[in-house]
Amino acid sequence: MAISLGRPHGPGAPVNAPIGTSSTYRAGGDIVYGREDSPSWSAFEEVVGALEGGRALAFSSGMAAIAAVLGRLPASAVVVAPGGAYTGTRTLLTEWHELGRVAEVRLVDAADTEATVAACEGATLVWLESPTNPMLAVADIPAIAAAPHPLGLSVAVDNTFATPIYQRPLDLGADVVVHSATKFLGGHSDLLMGVAVTRDDGWYDGLVQARTYGGAIPGALEAFLALRGLRTLDVRLERASETATELAARLLLHPAVEVVRYPGFGAMVSFDVAGGAEAAERVCGAVRLIVSATSLGGVETSIERRSKYAGEERTPPGLLRMSVGLEHIDDLWADLD
Ligand SMILES: *Cc1c(COP(=O)(O)O)cnc(C)c1O
Repeated sequence: MAISLGRPHGPGAPVNAPIGTSSTYRAGGDIVYGREDSPSWSAFEEVVGALEGGRALAFSSGMAAIAAVLGRLPASAVVVAPGGAYTGTRTLLTEWHELGRVAEVRLVDAADTEATVAACEGATLVWLESPTNPMLAVADIPAIAAAPHPLGLSVAVDNTFATPIYQRPLDLGADVVVHSATKFLGGHSDLLMGVAVTRDDGWYDGLVQARTYGGAIPGALEAFLALRGLRTLDVRLERASETATELAARLLLHPAVEVVRYPGFGAMVSFDVAGGAEAAERVCGAVRLIVSATSLGGVETSIERRSKYAGEERTPPGLLRMSVGLEHIDDLWADLD
């Protein structure tokens, strides 16, 4: 699907969807104006929609997709979310609560299914992120989605870390899935984009409204690059996950490493080095092959001490979040060791 879909058809058609840079269209057709729709996004949306099993809408960033979903909630909404969710998501929820745009935010440990289900009593939306960034905590999405819930409770999942290769939340009972396509879907650290996917017509129409009038639309070049990245998602993750599994095993035996967090799949490994913040910063300063930088999901391995950021006080000071790329394992280990 990732390879065959999203291509123009018919004799003489280009094999790849072109980068369309028109802001407007001749009157009388289906497409009118570039903030409402664009042939540049639809190829990307066709592929992501097929991978996640729903209808996809592209946004200008992961946060734009997240804000679009949360922005559809009424001011009376009660939102259940993991305390360990991506800082941007937690900050947005906290701020919207302070502004009166969300009535209540209940932060839970989403790895604790019972506590999460209990917190859903009277809630409007349960937001899940699994595995979480950067603690790699895994939520039992099917169990949480299948529990008897208040009428009208929606389940949204940030699937950025697992990607549809390892987890399809809509199949597991979620109503909406979001991604920071900046990360694994794009896969080359050369764009920012987001995407939301749903099977529910109500959610879909609401998200179209959110994008059209919120205006958080992706650029044509970004959509082209993201689709180009998607073509190799499967092979990139196969390689990165194999390397990450081996690195996690080696780190576990390393005398300078205290804790290794790895969910058993995917390309993200978080580990705590002995000596706390200072020792962890030394690792970031010493690596040569591995890139010391924020973000993740690229072909290049990158590493970062998360707790240096405001809002990341919950993260252990010596925790290094590593996004494993496609370099040779021997080269990576030589650098890391
Ligand atoms: C990076 C990230 C986001 C935000 O995405 P942007 O594309 O940076 O806006 C959201 N969720 C998770 C899990 C992320 O890692």
